[in-house]
Amino acid sequence: MNSDPGPVPVRPRIGITAKSGGSTHPAYRPYAAAVDAAGGEPVWLEPETLAGTDPHEVLRDLDGLLLSGGVDLDPGHFGETVVPDAGVEIDPRRDAAELPLARAALDADLPVLGICRGVQMLAVAAGGSLHQDLGLIVERARHQQRLAGKDETATAHPVHIEPGSGLARAVGGGEQIVNSFHHQAVKDVPEGFVVTARSPEGTVEALEDPRRPFALGVQWHPERMVARHPAQRKLFAALVEAARARALARR
Ligand code: MN
Repeated sequence: MNSDPGPVPVRPRIGITAKSGGSTHPAYRPYAAAVDAAGGEPVWLEPETLAGTDPHEVLRDLDGLLLSGGVDLDPGHFGETVVPDAGVEIDPRRDAAELPLARAALDADLPVLGICRGVQMLAVAAGGSLHQDLGLIVERARHQQRLAGKDETATAHPVHIEPGSGLARAVGGGEQIVNSFHHQAVKDVPEGFVVTARSPEGTVEALEDPRRPFALGVQWHPERMVARHPAQRKLFAALVEAARARALARR
């Protein structure tokens, strides 16, 4: 009889950014739950944890990074001033902590998944820009979640996922239905990145850099969809798998 349990599975360490106090906040818990369910070990990264640290040092201890959702980025980070009445809400400490971390992750080719604010963070970190208010480019009522009601697991609009993309390899290509809580959207796509999902009106809903092992962001909130939409779990599985490959390569 072979009782060899085999090698202990590697649980790659996945840094998850959060607002101050986010690690115990109900809105942030689903990120850690989704990473944990996918086989990763969540490591919270709040602005206080990151203040005064060298982002490359922080990342040396991690195998992957999840840039989570939250309030808007300061338009100053992409060379604009705040558009009046655009409803821009900023957390300067969080921006100051996360932007260098996102840039360092791209520098180091660390597997990184951006979600909502996180895809916007990825775009800006790589040199892109944002529309400060969705209402400036689309009929907001058609695009945002309010039509879907208060159920946060409910979906709001379809996206077309580019066949053959990394995103399609993770969750499937073609039409998918997603939730939509964002107030901003990616405007200028940074060099090297490609748009791999769009809403029917053309809003950028996902970006990735095919040159990197795993650098991908989505504008929806897969962590709130995993219970009812199992395909979305595969996004976290793809991050964890890329992080595990990196962890094993470094041993
Ligand atoms: Mn959307």
